Amino acid sequence: MTQVSCDIAIIGSGMGGGTLAWALRDGGADVLLVERGDHLPREEQNWSAQEVFGNGRYKNAEPWFDELAGTEFMPGVHYYVGGNTKVYGACLPRFREEDFGAIEHTDGTSPEWPITYAEMEPHYLAAERLFLVHGSPGGDPTEPWRSGGYPYPALSHEPAMEHLSRRFAAQGLNPFAMPMGIDLREGGPCLRCGTCDGFPCKVAAKSDAETRAVRPAVDAGVRLMTRTRVRRLETTPDGRRVTAAVAETDGRAVRITAGRFVLAAGAVNTAALLLASGEKGLANSSGAVGRRYMVHNSTFLVAVDPRRRNDVRFQKTLGVNDWYLPGPHAGRPLGNLQMLGKLSAPMVKAARRWVPVPILRYMTGHSIDVYLTTEDLPDPGNQVVLRADGRIGVRWQPNNLAPHRELVNRVSAAMRAAGYPLVFTERMSIATNSHQCGTATMSADPSAGVVDPGCRAHDLDNLWIVDSSVFPSSAALNPALTIAANALRVAALGALTS
Ligand SMILES: Cc1cc2nc3c(=O)[nH]c(=O)nc-3n(C[C@H](O)[C@H](O)[C@H](O)COP(=O)(O)OP(=O)(O)OC[C@H]3O[C@@H](n4cnc5c(N)ncnc54)[C@H](O)[C@@H]3O)c2cc1C
Repeated sequence: MTQVSCDIAIIGSGMGGGTLAWALRDGGADVLLVERGDHLPREEQNWSAQEVFGNGRYKNAEPWFDELAGTEFMPGVHYYVGGNTKVYGACLPRFREEDFGAIEHTDGTSPEWPITYAEMEPHYLAAERLFLVHGSPGGDPTEPWRSGGYPYPALSHEPAMEHLSRRFAAQGLNPFAMPMGIDLREGGPCLRCGTCDGFPCKVAAKSDAETRAVRPAVDAGVRLMTRTRVRRLETTPDGRRVTAAVAETDGRAVRITAGRFVLAAGAVNTAALLLASGEKGLANSSGAVGRRYMVHNSTFLVAVDPRRRNDVRFQKTLGVNDWYLPGPHAGRPLGNLQMLGKLSAPMVKAARRWVPVPILRYMTGHSIDVYLTTEDLPDPGNQVVLRADGRIGVRWQPNNLAPHRELVNRVSAAMRAAGYPLVFTERMSIATNSHQCGTATMSADPSAGVVDPGCRAHDLDNLWIVDSSVFPSSAALNPALTIAANALRVAALGALTS
């Protein structure tokens, strides 16, 4: 067995782990980033819709088990250096200030976080700088306060989005420029291509965790072990300290010892690792490990005007939050509207195999493609489990669906009023779990959560968690900037390095 030792072992190199490694790079500690996947290759196929969506070229996760349906499914996760951000849409909004407090929803209360927006704010600012967020303050009525500007100006709309923005405004809505993490700085490599959301970036212009955090961290001395899957954590006999991560590199056993351990394997895999370690699961005296799994209620909405071509390349520039909080447009929170990356025929063909390609080509050539998200609530019955054979199981009964249906209806009406008479919608299934969170929640009360507000496990002295599993609620916005800001906050608290 190979033995590796370090001061701080971070398991998982995605948004949480990669950002933390970056934050610790100059602190003097010997930091080891342990990643199950390899580097995603930069190659021609990165931008091929047929390869990426039709052939699933970069889908490398094992099947998970749907505990309620009794069937397997292929999860929407990707095991690479940089984690899911290698294929993410780079839409990087902050959660709203209200998201950190309790919010009443149709199906119940979205709980308060044990940290406030004010505590997160400086780290949001730092994360926006690290991930080159382009945005402009002022357009979004729900926007939280900020102590500094966006590092780069918002992306301009292409004509089809400008048209939609005007049509929405004419309906009394407040469309705004979505904050995006791409390198459109002067001389930056971004080409505003049509293959950002869901695709890897061939020119390293997308602010994924590998490009913006892991590579600079490694250049500064952080060690990176790829193709190394951690199977479980071992502890001292009293269970108070993690002593080793038991892993495999290319099938060979590896034992990683460290003074401190950080889990950042993604909400499902972090929970699975804890459940695989110790009889009742590690850090699990509250019984909360794996529970309160959230993923958002989300729907793809395709609105077509058969008379007008949509030649947009970079579609993801517009958002609408008028239905996000109770206010003039909604009595209760409904959620967020943002654009999808421009759909093309091969992307839709993967989900609609029976529809002839020419029809899909016509439709996507004339469509505006929208992504709708409603908050789901942390139900302890929605749970990640480890099956007897070691496979991951997910028990998921979606909740808070009525406001989601209302959001879909309202946006369908708004799109028709904007000049798109044909509207098609599809709600995402258990397999679309890109916004997974909540399986090891943060709480000041050790009987109610897995980690404390500093993200250290209540039950252990030297274990932290910095991925989306610590989220007490899912909000209804993209999670990656909040994951990164929280990792920076945890680093700044200093307990990891003191
Ligand atoms: C198609 C798609 C589009 C998205 N678009 C957006 C967007 O526009 N904006 C946004 O905010 N979010 C978006 N997301 C979600 C975003 O990517 C995730 O929220 C974010 O990456 C989660 O960060 P994380 O650190 O929790 O996990 P990840 O980034 O997934 O990182 C977890 C890492 O741990 C590794 N790992 C897992 N298990 C082990 C193990 N046992 N041993 C060692 N390593 C392990 C994984 O390989 C992975 O690298 C999108 C996701 C997808 C799939």
